[in-house]
Formats: sequence, C-alpha cells, structure tokens
Amino acid sequence: MRYISTRGQAPSLGFEDVLLTGLASDGGLYVPETLPQFSHQEITSWAKLNYADLAHKILLPFVEDDISSSELKIMVDETYAGFNHKAIAPLVQLDHNEWVLELFHGPTLAFKDFALQLLGRLMDNALVKRDQNLVIMGATSGDTGSAAIEGCRHSERVKMFILHPHERVSEVQRRQMTTILGDNIHNIAVRGNFDDCQQMVKHSFSDQAFLKGGQLGAVNSINWARIMAQIVYYFYAAVALGGPHRPVSFSVPTGNFGDIYAGYLAKNMGLPIAQLIVATNQNDILHRCISANQYQKKGLVQTLTPSMDIMVSSNFERLLFDLYDRDGAALAELISSLNNGTTNSLEPQRWEKARQLFSSHCVNDDKTCDVIRQTVHQHNYLLDPHTAIGLEAGRVCNQHLEVPMVTLATAHPVKFPDAVVKAKQAVPPLPEHLTDLMQRPERCQVLDNDLTKVQQYMTSQL
Ligand SMILES: *Cc1c(COP(=O)(O)O)cnc(C)c1O
Repeated sequence: MRYISTRGQAPSLGFEDVLLTGLASDGGLYVPETLPQFSHQEITSWAKLNYADLAHKILLPFVEDDISSSELKIMVDETYAGFNHKAIAPLVQLDHNEWVLELFHGPTLAFKDFALQLLGRLMDNALVKRDQNLVIMGATSGDTGSAAIEGCRHSERVKMFILHPHERVSEVQRRQMTTILGDNIHNIAVRGNFDDCQQMVKHSFSDQAFLKGGQLGAVNSINWARIMAQIVYYFYAAVALGGPHRPVSFSVPTGNFGDIYAGYLAKNMGLPIAQLIVATNQNDILHRCISANQYQKKGLVQTLTPSMDIMVSSNFERLLFDLYDRDGAALAELISSLNNGTTNSLEPQRWEKARQLFSSHCVNDDKTCDVIRQTVHQHNYLLDPHTAIGLEAGRVCNQHLEVPMVTLATAHPVKFPDAVVKAKQAVPPLPEHLTDLMQRPERCQVLDNDLTKVQQYMTSQL
C-alpha cells in the first residue's frame, strides 16, 4: 500500500515513512492510494472475532509492506490488553435503536487511546528497526496529549514535547499529562489557546532547522496511523448490531474531523452505513460547511466540550481531496483560497457530494447540559458532554428510524467534571487505576505564546 499527499506534490510513501513523517512536504496530508475492500461475506465472518483480532484483520492491508502479520498481531494484542473492559468497545443500549459505543475504557479515558496506544508501539517498532530516534511535537486540547504520552512513555527512541493551552484544560486532563515523569516526556503549558499551540507545531514542522538534523514526528490526527486505527471500531459496532446484513448509522462528536473521517473510510471499505452525522459544538465550521456551504473561520468560543474547541478542522482536507476527485493541484488551490479568504465555499457540485455523505448539527452548552441531565433521568446513564452532543445530533438528524443509531462516546464523564456539575449531576469517582491522580507529583513548563521560546526550550532538553 502506498500513500499519497492530498496536495499532489510530495512523493508517495510507504506506511512506516508516513507514520514517522506526519505532514507531507507539500503541506498536504497522506491518504492511502487505494482502500482495501471487504465483501459482505468476509465482514460476516468477523462476527466471532474479539476486538484485537478484528483490528488485526482490518489494519493488516494498510501496513503489510512494512510490518509482518505476526508483528502486527503482537502490537494490537498488547495495545488492547491495556484497556479496562473485556469488550474494549462495549455498546450500551439507551432506547429502541439508540446505542452508545463506549470508547473510553483505555488508560486515559478517551477514544484517542484506540489509536495512540497503538501508534506508540508502531513508532517504536519502526524506529528500532531503522536504528533511528524521533522528536515528537504535538498540540493538545487535553485528550490527545495524555493518550500520546501514555502511548510513548516507555519508548527509548522517542522524545516527546506536548503543548497544551495553559489553564484551559481540565485538572484531570492536565494531571494525566503532567504526572507522567519519564525523562523523555516534556509538557509545555503555553500562555495562549489551542490554536496558538497548533500553529507553533505547524510552524515547527514546516521548518525543522531548530532541531539541527533531528526529525519531527506527529501524534495529532494529521498522522495517518491514527485515522487507520479508528476505522476498526466502526466495523466492530456494526457487526455487533447485525451488520453487514443490516445498515447502521453513526453520530460522531467532531472537532478535527478525524474520528468521523475514519467512519467515512469504513463505509468506503464496504461497511453498510446508512448515515454519518457530524456533531459539533458552537465552534461549528464543519456544520456550517456541510449544511450551508459556508467554510469560514470564526473566533474561537470556549465551550464545555474543550476537545472540540477548534476553528479549522485539519482532517477535512482528506475528505475535500475525495470531493475534488483526488486532484491534488485543484485541492492545493482551494486550500490556499480558503486560507487567504478569496473563497469561503466549495464548488456547488462538490458540496452536494459532501451533503449526500454527511448530515450535521451544532449543539450549544445549554442543550448539552439538558441532554446530560435528561439522560440520567430517563436512562440512568451519565454522558460526557462531547457524547451528549453526539446523542443530540443523532436524534435531530436521524432519517432512518428503523436503523440503529450509534453515538460514539468519546470520553468518560469524569474527564469533564465542569459540564457534569453544570448539568447538576454527581461527578463519578475516577477509575481504579487513577484513584491517586490528584496526589501525584506534576512536572510541566509554562512558557509564553512565543515560537522561539518554545523551540529554545525544546533544544535545551534534547
Ligand atoms: C478529540 C476528541 C473529539 C474530537 O475528535 P476529532 O477526531 O478531532 O474529530 C471529541 N471528543 C473527545 C472527548 C475528544 O477527545
């Protein structure tokens, strides 16, 4: 399997090069040249597989030029053995044809563990084989950072620098990052917002001279391997609910368009999916684009769902690439006009395609709290605020009441106590493996929102 850039200029690469590179040299994102296709018969035969075995089946075609079947098997087995639920991704039924897919049973309590616990192993495996080291730089609004740190904490080949916006992540999120004290782990709290952190990471990738020969690797969802790992749970849920003989719909709380893009790929690989619903908070560029063909940056709003507080969605470019018939030159032009403001919409016939593929809905903080409260009263089930947005969007956008609607539960509610308290519900206790989190010592460097200072700090630690 080869991977190509969405902007058509960078060389095509194999899996491990893409894994270690992050962004393509032309500024684009890597996508597979072709997708593996699975027949109904083959998908049917997966009903008996456990999560790790299913992951092995689905991921092997993406990596097999570089990684043997048995090597991959060991890595997925180890990854999902670290989860705290036997089913790995259990489905919970709330109502007739209404389901929640719990993706928060990994070590850091958010769906990011599905990809990042595997990513750490994939990277280490590749780096050892190549006798190479990697400097990882990533920006996080909370969940990516903790999952990435957990995934790479034991790697001797990786030095990791994770930037988060100072005082804008929840205490649980911050402590999940700053209490991991390994010598190769560096937390930087930037006096700015998430987009400031993201900008610094982007600039550092496009000019890596400050590393004096070192190579930067990415843990954000621009890294293809993350998307790839997330395809698996769409198959897992659908097969558990009678797929492929019966279609399933998914509602996905979305920020960077990574998670829902994985669902789109699952559909393109042969999984019958009736609807894919993009659920946003008030930072709703994706909803405005899909519902009204308005792709325009607005100021950032701080919401109760910080993991979706973004102004632009980096993975949307991967979808746009398909909407523009994989014409890298046309896409490069579109992206530059969107960035410099000469365009704020897609060509009408391209947008029509997007509308056929996705429904969308935007949910504000008040409604999010209402949904959390009502769900406790009606179903005795506590949602995290991101999941509440997904559930609400799934109800509003549902066009096929006869089809199971699965909302992806992207985080455990204990990670977002502010929203739970605002919804007047009791905050649950931390899971057993984290009970002493609030007592553990922390290590973190607070820095100004200044690229030079951040890069100087990084080189001083290398
Ligand atoms: C990261 C995150 C999201 C958004 O996921 P994307 O892949 O960026 O769309 C939603 N909910 C939670 C809890 C997250 O951590």
